[in-house]
Amino acid sequence: MKVPHLRWERDRMSQISDFRSDTVTKPTDAMRDAMREAVVGDDVYGEDETVRQLEQLAAELMGKEAGLFVTSGTQGNQVAIATHAGRGDEVIAESESHVFYYEAGAVAAIAGAQLRQLPGKRGVMDPEHIREAIRTPNIHHPVTKLICVENTHNRAGGTVIPEAALRETANIAREHGVAVHMDGARLFNAAVAMNVPVAELAAHADSVQVCLSKGLCAPIGSVLVSSREFIERARVWRKRLGGGMRQAGVIAAPGIIALSTMVERLEEDHRLATRLASELASLPGLEVNLSLVDTNIVLVDIAKTGYTVDEFLAVLAEEGFLATSFGKTVLRFVTHRDVSDVDVDRLISYLSSHLRRPSEVH
Ligand SMILES: *Cc1c(COP(=O)(O)O)cnc(C)c1O
Repeated sequence: MKVPHLRWERDRMSQISDFRSDTVTKPTDAMRDAMREAVVGDDVYGEDETVRQLEQLAAELMGKEAGLFVTSGTQGNQVAIATHAGRGDEVIAESESHVFYYEAGAVAAIAGAQLRQLPGKRGVMDPEHIREAIRTPNIHHPVTKLICVENTHNRAGGTVIPEAALRETANIAREHGVAVHMDGARLFNAAVAMNVPVAELAAHADSVQVCLSKGLCAPIGSVLVSSREFIERARVWRKRLGGGMRQAGVIAAPGIIALSTMVERLEEDHRLATRLASELASLPGLEVNLSLVDTNIVLVDIAKTGYTVDEFLAVLAEEGFLATSFGKTVLRFVTHRDVSDVDVDRLISYLSSHLRRPSEVH
């Protein structure tokens, strides 16, 4: 008796258009093959050839001396922050940055540093505000050790940081002997959108974390890159946090495929996001700030539809469309390799026949 029901469930599953995040991307066949073939060893002993190859490749691409393979973007950021700053130090970060907003209080829990939050525009802190926020020597003050920048900026809507702002921030940091960490979870999206080599953007930071498991489609992991000396100290923090892995080549191998073959196609995600954004913007009750759509993220304000975010998401989910809540009246849609124009067609067609102008809402 259960069989027809199960079959129906499966058909429905295959209809799901998952716009929640680029983290939902599945590893490609080439990645699965690479996992099987990977040459491995014990990476805590420094003996996993595949991990070393991934770390070197990431470092080369980003113009840094060395890399460290970490389990997640959060681990990469927190290992970096703890290596740069300690108990009672101050770390400057944008007020909606991932390291502050989405990492479960890790800066306080792990490094023991305090965050100084500066509000940004499009996720970008004004370099002059940063200059003013850097502490002067005084018995009452913490010591400013680090500035965190986020590129692209997630909560701002996948916006890229203009290179001038990065350069100015780096100059101010250098003048004051403060380090810069770049949360570059989606740095390759920024590089593709700006059509510049990723190393050009990474050059403005002392350490950079990039995610392999988002738009680049690897199943697991991030890489932290920096100077050789910094990475050796970061390796100790990774071990402390339980990130010392053994035959990690099986998960590093897809990362190599990600960095060497999956970067250029991000352009396709950006094109699809631009299309999705402009079509959503033309629907009644939906508001999209198109000028924020630099990469693969689309934020949609649904306040004027009369629905709450939870109601709207529930209706969409019924129809097989998944997105995430991104504030009281805002939804986030993310484009990636596992959604296409067909998913956007279905979504727009569903919404255009079901959304009414506010005056028609009874
Ligand atoms: C996704 C993301 C991270 C880290 O993500 P993990 O889920 O821990 O891999 C860090 N920073 C930003 C800006 C992100 O979008």
